[in-house]
Amino acid sequence: MSSADLDDVEISDNGAVLLGENVVCDSHYQRPLRIISHAHSDHMLGISDSLKFCEKVVATPVTKDIIGILKGKETADPVVSLDYGLPFEYRGERVILYPAGHIPGSAQVLVETRENQRILYTGDFRYPPAEVVETDILITEATYGNPECVRDFNDNVETELTGLIKKSLKNNSVYIFGFYGKVQEVVTILNNSDINVPIVVPEKIFKILKVCSSHGMKVKDFYFSKSDAGIEIRKAPHIGVYHTTAARWTGKDAVKILLTGWQFDAPVKPVGEKKFRVALSDHSDFNQLLEFISMVHPTLVVTDGYRAREAGLFALEINNRLGIRAVSRPR
Ligand SMILES: [Zn+2]
Repeated sequence: MSSADLDDVEISDNGAVLLGENVVCDSHYQRPLRIISHAHSDHMLGISDSLKFCEKVVATPVTKDIIGILKGKETADPVVSLDYGLPFEYRGERVILYPAGHIPGSAQVLVETRENQRILYTGDFRYPPAEVVETDILITEATYGNPECVRDFNDNVETELTGLIKKSLKNNSVYIFGFYGKVQEVVTILNNSDINVPIVVPEKIFKILKVCSSHGMKVKDFYFSKSDAGIEIRKAPHIGVYHTTAARWTGKDAVKILLTGWQFDAPVKPVGEKKFRVALSDHSDFNQLLEFISMVHPTLVVTDGYRAREAGLFALEINNRLGIRAVSRPR
């Protein structure tokens, strides 16, 4: 490994994460190789500009398919898909994507430079199960970079969630709300539980779940809410899984469960009549972030301050607790 240098990495004012000489991730920048780490809006910035000006736009096959659903086929078709673990050589640099454990298709991006420097960008990630990849320079997300952001109950959330759903289903339908990625996770949790009540979902989530199952993920027993089967199911107590933005007007009279990463004192909290918040997160909490960083052995860490307001504090914590040089970018 060579010595790590800030000349090889940068985060621009528009959120573009620059790795080595050629690669830009998660926003547009005048570089030949654009990579989309995953299909959340703050990582799909400037895709149409990148499709116009970059030589190649790259994502995992699952991310490419989800982009097709969220942004339309015209946007997704020119995106080049790259599987996890397959090296992609470009002008003397090598790019490899690794599982990030965040949402379906989410990837960490490793760039090996001409000088054999290794630069790893985590994108959004959850550790475990994100893959541990040794690196010289690490660019990390910092969503829960504040030391107060710790969920000691991480292991119990699924049990608490299924317990709450079972109890609620005795007299009601249950509607669960989360962001894309988290809703897929909740369907998997339901599929793996002994809850056998059918699940209805809106059109976009239906299509995303179809993509997930076509790529071998274990999601099943879900129905488009407006299909004949969906309409029939909705006549009896059932489960609805919807995007967070639909929480206000969907699931009238049902027990509502809002999934959030921003709850640290308890896995389940009542927040109103027949309304609960459950601390299901697809990001690493503060301790998991630190554990991951110490596992990948960087000599320099850059925290993503474009996407997290605690990135500056997190850089200080990395410095103090792990003794690793850390800075936040953009400045
Ligand atoms: Zn994300």
